[in-house]
Amino acid sequence: MISLTIDYEFDWGGRVKTAKAIESMTHPLLECLDKVGAKATFFVSAETVLSTKPMLQAIVNAGHEIASHGFHHDLKYDILSRNELKEEIRSSKESLEDALGVQIVGFRTPQFRKNRYTEETLLEFGFLYDSSSVNTSLSGRYQERQYEFGFLPEIPVSTLYGRFPAGIKWINLLGAGFDPTSHRVIYLHPFDLLSMAETVHSYTKGISPLVLAFYLARFTSPLGTVEKVARGSVTLASSIKGR
Ligand SMILES: [Zn+2]
Repeated sequence: MISLTIDYEFDWGGRVKTAKAIESMTHPLLECLDKVGAKATFFVSAETVLSTKPMLQAIVNAGHEIASHGFHHDLKYDILSRNELKEEIRSSKESLEDALGVQIVGFRTPQFRKNRYTEETLLEFGFLYDSSSVNTSLSGRYQERQYEFGFLPEIPVSTLYGRFPAGIKWINLLGAGFDPTSHRVIYLHPFDLLSMAETVHSYTKGISPLVLAFYLARFTSPLGTVEKVARGSVTLASSIKGR
């Protein structure tokens, strides 16, 4: 089984509050998914809703899943108090449901930062699964699995070669080295799909040159890679049915 997931946030991983990549890449991405019969899960940062609503509506209309990627992407969710986290998660779910008329059942915390309150808060608001960790041997925030208490299904992002998070940018560099027996969960950001020229063009002061270099490192066209790996993708919500 394969699931393509999109962390739908402002440009440069939410480092700036523009939505150029969402505006230019949502429709090409939807066409690509349609072409290969893929249904994806879009983890939407709710702070983007007001400026990107027509694109979000197109995603819903195409039958993909909308899930929550929190409200403010630049907050460090691992150091929020119980009440602060509650407010972020509540407001993200509510604004997505109100704007789009869909039910939100899935969550991915911004920047893979989870804490001891994440699971109980998601349960309180009726979420059915979490996808906030990465199955990797790398230490650090990708591996906050100590905060999984077993009350909510966790669907981690897969790894490549047992080590690197299965992001489209890594797949571009390293190829798709998955364990074929696992549920392959791949992630990408709209910003990862921009061409090199567009990426350079959108470069702004305040973004470190290293970040720019990471966004430019690739061997193939990102959308071409999506087309190769996303064939037959199912949404995370449908993947947990019957669990
Ligand atoms: Zn994100």
